[in-house]
Amino acid sequence: MTRVIGIVSGKGGVGKTTLVSNLSYVLTELGKDVTAVDTNLTTPHLGLHLGFHMVPKSLHDFLRGDAKLHEVVYYHPYGFKVIPAGLSVNDLIGINSDKLQDLTVNLLGKTDFILLDSAPSLGREATLSLKLSDEILLLTNPNIPAVLDILKVAKVAESLNKNVLGVVVNRINRKGNELSTSEIEDTVKYPVIAEIPEDINVQKALAARTAIVDYNPKSVAAVEMRRLGHYLVGREFTYGQGFWEKLFGWFR
Ligand code: ADP
Ligand code: MG
Repeated sequence: MTRVIGIVSGKGGVGKTTLVSNLSYVLTELGKDVTAVDTNLTTPHLGLHLGFHMVPKSLHDFLRGDAKLHEVVYYHPYGFKVIPAGLSVNDLIGINSDKLQDLTVNLLGKTDFILLDSAPSLGREATLSLKLSDEILLLTNPNIPAVLDILKVAKVAESLNKNVLGVVVNRINRKGNELSTSEIEDTVKYPVIAEIPEDINVQKALAARTAIVDYNPKSVAAVEMRRLGHYLVGREFTYGQGFWEKLFGWFR
C-alpha cells in the first residue's frame, strides 16, 4: 500500500525540502520505493536540492497538460524517484493545480512512499498538499512563531481527518534561547518524533545538490534523519555502537 506523507509547516524556510530530500535517501536505504513530489508550485526547491533543476519537463508541464506523468518522473542515482516542479515564473502560466490529485492517484500502488514537499502556510497551494496526504509530518523550528504556525496547520489537518504523525523539530542549537521539546508538545498536542540539530553540513550538502545523509552520514543531523526514517517504517534504529556514535549520542 502506498503511504502519502505530507511534509508541512506554517512558516517557510524551516526545512521541509531538506527533510523530503533526506527521507528520500533514508527510506530508499530501508528498501522502500520512494517518490518525492514538489507540491510547492510557486517557490519550488526540491529539484535544486536533488540535482533536478534543469529538467526538460517538470510537474508544471504535467499540470498544464503538456507532459505525460512518466515524462516528469526522474530517477535519482540513489534509487528513488523525483517529480520536480519548474523554476521559471512562466511555468506558472496555464497550470491546473487540481491535476495534482491525478498524479497522486496514478502513483498509488506503484510506489511505497509518496513524499509531498509542501508550500508553507495555509494558502490554496499548501492546503492542496494537506488534502492529498494521508499522513502528515509537522515541521517546525524551536521558536514561538514557527510553533504557533504549525498549531494552525495541525488544526486544519485534523479538520480534514488526516493522520498527524507528529512534530519534527529542525535547526535546534541548544543555546538556551529555544522552546523545549515539552513546551512544543504542550502547545501543539502532538509528540515530537525527531529533533534535528542546526548543522552547517546541511547547507554544504545543499550546495553539493545532495542530502546530509549522503554528504556527511555521521553528522548528528544525518543520524537524526535516519532515526526518523526508521521510526516511519516501524524499524528499530541500532546506530550508536561505535565510538563516534556514542560521542554524538552524548552530545544529543
Ligand atoms: P523549507 O523547504 O521549509 O522552505 P529548506 O529545506 O529549503 O526549508 O531549508 C531552508 C534553509 O535552511 C536551507 O538553506 C537549508 O540548507 C537550511 N537548513 C535546513 N535545515 C537545516 C539544519 N538542520 N541545519 C542548518 N541549516 C539547515
Ligand atoms: Mg521548500
